[in-house]
Amino acid sequence: MIQDSHAPIWRRVSIRCHGDLEDFLPRGRRGGWVLHPFCGRPSAKSVLEAAGVPQAEIDLILVDGCPAGLDCRLLGGERLVVYPLFAAMDRQPLSRLRPRPLPKAFVVDANLGALARLLRLCGLDSLYRRDFDDDEIVRLARGQRRFILTRDKGILHYSAVDHGYWVRNTQPQRQLSEVIGRLRLQSLLHPFSRCIRCNGLIQPVARDLVAGRVPAGAWREHRHFFRCDGCGQIYWRGSHYRRMAAHLAALGLQTP
Ligand SMILES: [Zn+2]
Repeated sequence: MIQDSHAPIWRRVSIRCHGDLEDFLPRGRRGGWVLHPFCGRPSAKSVLEAAGVPQAEIDLILVDGCPAGLDCRLLGGERLVVYPLFAAMDRQPLSRLRPRPLPKAFVVDANLGALARLLRLCGLDSLYRRDFDDDEIVRLARGQRRFILTRDKGILHYSAVDHGYWVRNTQPQRQLSEVIGRLRLQSLLHPFSRCIRCNGLIQPVARDLVAGRVPAGAWREHRHFFRCDGCGQIYWRGSHYRRMAAHLAALGLQTP
């Protein structure tokens, strides 16, 4: 038998994903060890991403039981165990890959406009524009310490992304529940404190100052008005407010 001396030498690692990192694996490969083939001496990051797991969602890597970085070089035969953010485990914080404290503000990908408005409705600082491109999102996330929320897994592969989350659900209200639950945002919620149009903060404004700027019916029926510091939009607690309050109540959120 003739062997080609230039043929690549294939090696394998065993990968075990914990928690919601399993969502990135094909259904038939969840719940146990996954064998992944490679050539050369790739980094843990490139092997994990080739297996479908974006680096931004990984918070701890153990290589043969020891904490390792994303740049750890693999030779073959190793056992990689990877954990997501918020995984319950007894490990020193220094072993974690994601810088702490975690960001409390967000930049929302162009494909999640409805979620961005719901996050603002809950008072969460959420930058969003329909024309955001990947470079701008990554720049805003790094420059302003914001968590990236996206439906595009590709952006979470960028090494420059420190904190990112791929939103699993496709329905906006389920997306809101998912993000609040997975990222543990319950204590940060202040419904109706932020403008859903521009992300500015909403402040009470004297009723006289909004005369002529709101519909006559709203002016007659309401005593209290609010104005966005950013775009000047006027708000009051009308039927739209009641519908949104009912929606937030269904999520277990108190409204003022
Ligand atoms: Zn505004």
